Amino acid sequence: MSQIRKDMFSGEWVIFASNRKDKPYNYKRGAKMEENNKSVCPFCPENESMTPPAVFELKNEGGWEIRVFDNLYPALSLNSFERDFDTFYESHDGCGIHEVVVDTPEHTMDITDETDKHFLRLFGVLIERLEKIRNNEKVEYVQIFKNNGPYAGASISHSHWQIMGVPILTSEQKAAFEVFEEYKKSKNRCIMCDMVEHEKASQTRLIDENEHFVSLAPYASRQSFEMWIVPKRHISTMSQLEEKELKSLSVFLKDMLLRINAIREGISFNICIQEEAKSTPEGLFHWYIRLLPRIGSWAGFEYATRCFINPVLPETAAKFYRENRH
Ligand SMILES: [Zn+2]
Ligand SMILES: [Zn+2]
Repeated sequence: MSQIRKDMFSGEWVIFASNRKDKPYNYKRGAKMEENNKSVCPFCPENESMTPPAVFELKNEGGWEIRVFDNLYPALSLNSFERDFDTFYESHDGCGIHEVVVDTPEHTMDITDETDKHFLRLFGVLIERLEKIRNNEKVEYVQIFKNNGPYAGASISHSHWQIMGVPILTSEQKAAFEVFEEYKKSKNRCIMCDMVEHEKASQTRLIDENEHFVSLAPYASRQSFEMWIVPKRHISTMSQLEEKELKSLSVFLKDMLLRINAIREGISFNICIQEEAKSTPEGLFHWYIRLLPRIGSWAGFEYATRCFINPVLPETAAKFYRENRH
């Protein structure tokens, strides 16, 4: 049972999902992947009955290679939601979609060991689910993300991604879309396209580029070693990536993940795929991927002020990534 409430002081939305308190946690903090228990892993082959039925499966000769199903402990759901009717405050039905994409049948497979062919197949599945979820009339915004490792919020060690279709425009997205809109109004150009040009010219925060993508450490990174992968072509959703761009991204993402692993073997990180929202003017947003290595966590000052203290300048992070190419 979920509901969504707005913090009227910050304008931020908070999802309340009381069912998630029963969620299993099979990560031993600090333990290596292989030490975590396979026999009770709900994401392993032969344990499919421990999860809701698949909504999509990419098959291989022996079984499935990628399996998608509704999250057993969804933060949002289409059939179990409520709204708070306190009229002083603003709230919204906790109505939405929350899917899990198990991207490998191998219990101990680490994403940084996957092949670029794997990423290509995975992108195909993510796009298929993205389109399906976006088409639901209740959904305003779709967030695709991966929590990799216990310090990135993963509760199950078996590799997986998650997709959430939310019924509201979240505050991070609202703020970003307003920036795109303002810049477009004043300069009649895309702020991200201009930023990529600027970073390519200045080189200091540019990590690498190939024919279709650049990677860079953003100018005001909130997290140490934050990295963005940005397509050179202006597109607003992952669905607009062409076959040759998807192939190129598969190789590029794998390369960038290896460089993140060079910070520290087995480092926890998040991958966030930033999409346009349904209410955003079509074509305004510039699609990109955020890679967030997890070093340190939010502390009192960050909670109190939303002003982050980052000990690593993005210029230093970019230099590290440039020197750690494989
Ligand atoms: Zn498993
Ligand atoms: Zn652009």
